[in-house]
Amino acid sequence: MKTKPLGPIPAEYSALNGELAIGGHKVSDLVETAGSTPLFVYSKSLIDARVAQLRDVLPGRIGINYAVKANPHPDVISHMADLVDGFDIASSGELSMIERAGIDHSRVSFAGPGKRDDELEAAITAGVTLNCESESEAQRSLAIGQSVGKAPRIAIRVNPDFELKGSGMKMGGGAKPFGVDAERVPALAKSLIAEGAEWRGLHIFTGSQTLDADAIIEAQGNVLNLAQKLSESIGEVLPKLNMGGGFGIPYFPGDTPLDLAAVGEVLHNLVEARAEALKDTDLCIELGRFLVGEAGVYLCRVVDRKVSHGQTYLVTDGGLHHQLAASGNFGTVVRRNYPVAIASRFDAQPDEVVNVVGCLCTPLDRLADLAEMPRAHVGDLVAVFCAGAYGASASPANFLGHGPAAELLV
Ligand SMILES: *Cc1c(COP(=O)(O)O)cnc(C)c1O
Repeated sequence: MKTKPLGPIPAEYSALNGELAIGGHKVSDLVETAGSTPLFVYSKSLIDARVAQLRDVLPGRIGINYAVKANPHPDVISHMADLVDGFDIASSGELSMIERAGIDHSRVSFAGPGKRDDELEAAITAGVTLNCESESEAQRSLAIGQSVGKAPRIAIRVNPDFELKGSGMKMGGGAKPFGVDAERVPALAKSLIAEGAEWRGLHIFTGSQTLDADAIIEAQGNVLNLAQKLSESIGEVLPKLNMGGGFGIPYFPGDTPLDLAAVGEVLHNLVEARAEALKDTDLCIELGRFLVGEAGVYLCRVVDRKVSHGQTYLVTDGGLHHQLAASGNFGTVVRRNYPVAIASRFDAQPDEVVNVVGCLCTPLDRLADLAEMPRAHVGDLVAVFCAGAYGASASPANFLGHGPAAELLV
């Protein structure tokens, strides 16, 4: 029978007594702890290892920000509080989550193209840095600052005149709803400074999910050049530069991990070469999925096993309502298989070809097509890897009324 390859399982996962283990715990124990399937499990040790790996290769002066939207689970945010330098939020809802974790507002910046007045007010009052997305947002921010008696802390998000090649989601270059076109940035910055905003520098985010080190290296060189050019036209010291990120993780067959060492080495050189121009500038990169994506696994249970026209279907209690991206319906054109495994038989050899589907009554609800798997039965657990980012919070949990998945940080 025709088969389709599965994405690569992150190398850190192994079997314990025949089952997949996460953070040293067998999946059956994790499901018992949570009390139900489906379940997201996030591993602290894998998040810690990833941040340590980054610190190891990046120049010490480049801080690491966590993009909260990748995984806003309260335990994940709290765990991140001691690991990373800053937090990037994209709504007042995320601001509340940061506040509940007790994270200092001075570490937080707020980007997003449609900030409402009440969101601007909450952020300005709290002293959060606004990554300003337009001239009219700047005007509203200044007016709100006046009315609450507080100078807004404002950086400008730049829509750069280049893009991140090979990026899964391009967010800069050409016509975009994000940021202010580069050539209009100096005038806006000067007027913000003249009108009493606290100038917090520039934010240049070019895109997401890139596995190509050369593309990231090229984009980072362009980011530093553009930041230098803009700050010379603005005529003020650049207090802060958020250099974006876009570091990807392997999801699909044939994907290979980003060469982080290569990116780190070039960043050392790029920063060194501009040591004088950047001597008063705080530098950071902002990452979401690279920090947490591979540290998360989505677990669901086989509730039915059936055959149709010669193909075997494992029907699970999970699905696209928790894992939209694995179903292929979140920003992909051609559906490819994520890394998926029978978690309760993790060290068994594949001996049949199956389709793993979710429980939703729609043909979109597919977790693995024509995958070679060890023979599984009703009651077995299925693992979908790379589920730590854009999983629970980026899926339509209300669709079809099954409700949200449990989430556990171990
Ligand atoms: C979504 C987003 C990120 C995080 O992207 P990842 O691919 O998860 O690293 C960072 N910055 C901004 C502005 C974003 O919108």
